Amino acid sequence: HIRTRFAPSPTGFIHLGNLRSALYPWAFARHNQGDFILRIEDTDLERSSQEAVDVIIEGMAWLGLDLDEGPIYQMQRIDRYREVVKQMVDAGLAYPCYMSEDELNKLRDQQMENKEKPRYNGLWRPEPGKTLPTVPQGVLPVIRFRNPIGGSVIWNDAVKGTIEISNDELDDLVIARPDGTPTYNFCVVVDDLDMKITHVIRGDDHVNNTPRQINIMKALGGQLPVYAHLPTVLNDLGEKMSKRNGAMSVRDYQKAGYLPEAILNYLARLGWSHGDAEVFTKEQFVGWFDLESLGRSPAQHNPEKLLWLNHQYIQNADPTALATLTKPFAHQLGIDTESGPDFTQVVTLLKDRANTLIEIAEAAKLFYLPAPSHSTEQIAANIPPAIVPALVDLIAAIKTAEHSKEAYGTAFKEVLAKHLIKMPALAMPVRYALFATTQTPAIDSVLVVLGKDEAIQRLSKVVL
Ligand code: GLU
Repeated sequence: HIRTRFAPSPTGFIHLGNLRSALYPWAFARHNQGDFILRIEDTDLERSSQEAVDVIIEGMAWLGLDLDEGPIYQMQRIDRYREVVKQMVDAGLAYPCYMSEDELNKLRDQQMENKEKPRYNGLWRPEPGKTLPTVPQGVLPVIRFRNPIGGSVIWNDAVKGTIEISNDELDDLVIARPDGTPTYNFCVVVDDLDMKITHVIRGDDHVNNTPRQINIMKALGGQLPVYAHLPTVLNDLGEKMSKRNGAMSVRDYQKAGYLPEAILNYLARLGWSHGDAEVFTKEQFVGWFDLESLGRSPAQHNPEKLLWLNHQYIQNADPTALATLTKPFAHQLGIDTESGPDFTQVVTLLKDRANTLIEIAEAAKLFYLPAPSHSTEQIAANIPPAIVPALVDLIAAIKTAEHSKEAYGTAFKEVLAKHLIKMPALAMPVRYALFATTQTPAIDSVLVVLGKDEAIQRLSKVVL
């Protein structure tokens, strides 16, 4: 039974690259009818915050990454980690080390001088026949893991292939601090074992931790999970994504009027592919997702592509649902969607040319502003006297036309033919009369959305 997890550290900013680390394990669990667990790695009290946890949970819910278990907070499992530390010491898998900070620094300096890699020298590591130093008075020890000596750690990474790290590279890792609090790599191992995680799918910034984690896992007699280390997501300039160089958070995308379906689709392709499929549903993605098709090189964020995808999703969205999603954005712009034209109709008219919900709301404004009040001078400047007879005929034609795009289109054509003028010559004054602007969507559709009576009223004011 497949079990995966997303294990974020809630230390602030959550960018798209972080969310991708949630999406892939989620998709893998769903594809295999397995379980997906959210584990909050909050043991770094200084840097963790509830605000960051909320952003993660909201962001996942927004994308529809549903959980089978969790959120599980590491801070609530401290007793469990302490228990395992004790078991390991009792079983001789770990040992207390009384080397002071000063001694450690001295050792490191010496090693650096000899051009050696700084590493703990095993002074307090018990060995058969070895006499340990005398335990100093009043010093609390750290607990170190007894890393195997000789040999190597080998795993077959689902993304990176076979990785082999010599045990000589790994010293005896501190698993508990003098005050007894467990360390990061140790908690991860205890959790992955207790939670019966079968596939660890995470960013490759953790690949150096993996051999250490595997050794501890083996010492505990645990079943090793499959590891899949995802290459980084770079920003559009090829740099590491971060708040400092302008990465947007999940909330920023939400506020900018992106649809979660578009973000999910976009993230899916940021390091994974299925043939040349670019636009696909969440269900298709889950159906197709496999670890074999994960990319091996860093993925690069492409804001234009994300905007394009968002446009695709907006264009194809159900108008009623889209109207509901757009309303909050319209309200922010001061639009009262309950007065004036039917908002769903307005959204339907505007969606094909919009990339974001904000763009729809901006364009919708036109229909909710009060009718323009043109001064005589303004009318004189914008409505050529020669066009007035055509406008008068148009008003009459609109009056008798059926209330449809097609009928209004025909009304326009008839007036154009009768007066031997071209569309822009008539449409521009009409737009001016209706909205005091020259830019609107197709004028026949605009009449339908604005309403016959309202349109006639506004048009009549400029021909008096
Ligand atoms: N907490 C780690 C992070 O946010 C992830 C650890 C893991 O997935 O094993 O980078």
